Amino acid sequence: MLLNGSNLSVICEASRSKPLLTMNYTLYSQIAWAWIAVAIVTFLYLLRQNAPYGRHVQPGWGPTVDNRLGWFVMEFTVIVVFLTVLLWPGIPSSKPVWVFSALFLFHYINRSIIFPLRLRTSGKRMPVVIMFSAVGFNLMNGFLLGYYFAHFADYPSNWWLDIRFLAGMALFWTGLGINWQSDHILLNLRKPGETGYAIPRGGLFGRVSCPNHLGEMIEWAGFALMSWALPALAFLIWTVANLAPRALAHHRWYKKKFANYPPERRALWPF
Ligand code: NDP
Repeated sequence: MLLNGSNLSVICEASRSKPLLTMNYTLYSQIAWAWIAVAIVTFLYLLRQNAPYGRHVQPGWGPTVDNRLGWFVMEFTVIVVFLTVLLWPGIPSSKPVWVFSALFLFHYINRSIIFPLRLRTSGKRMPVVIMFSAVGFNLMNGFLLGYYFAHFADYPSNWWLDIRFLAGMALFWTGLGINWQSDHILLNLRKPGETGYAIPRGGLFGRVSCPNHLGEMIEWAGFALMSWALPALAFLIWTVANLAPRALAHHRWYKKKFANYPPERRALWPF
């Protein structure tokens, strides 16, 4: 039988089962705004205290876990939670939701599986508390996005032509391209087995110290714009809260460590 748009949506509707939990949009949005408030507090905290992983790792943060395993555990969590919450009531019938979900998963398959396998941090460890705080973030982020897309998302059939969708899609791919290119440059600074640091060059590193963090922010700004969804805005605010202080800390660290660090290079934003 050929599936057209209307009988496909009938099948999708028929396959929808009871949600994991039920809440109306008022309650949902109160939770999302509270989550945004936590991001702002986190941002203020991280301006004073560098998150202790990578170059900022310090003793005194308790037990540690292998760096690569830590990245996998903390980032794969969001895939499991997002898919569970999204698909529990059945396959969503909204096509834009499929697109947003595919983009989200595309990013996180790289971040949770491919990126950790490419890391050259042999022997390095991260505090378990960092891993669990990122797991906590990903549990909430995956839940909020999955629940919104499963229960509240309602896009008109011509959303593909909406300026928010088109501009958001362009921003998303621009940010992802910058993030991947910058991560690629960083990951290739070390030969296998090395763990030291060098001054990165090429791509946007000519302008800023942390183009990987800048790209990640642009990417999720695009996602928030194209999906026009409160949880995507919350995700963007969390990304800025995590990464803007980290980029400032990296920039200070580079200037202290390398006497010949390019003086024209900014921390995060080229201008
Ligand atoms: P970093 O730039 O701190 O490090 C990325 C990798 O490159 C690490 O393996 C690091 O090694 C290595 N590296 C960095 N600088 C150098 C250098 N100068 N010389 C040699 N090696 C270097 O990135 P993060 O760890 O903060 O983040 C990794 C990715 O995850 C980024 O793409 C980031 O955008 C994303 N991310 C997203 C978050 C979000 O909220 N959406 C939160 C956190 C990260 P080492 O670990 O030994 O320092």
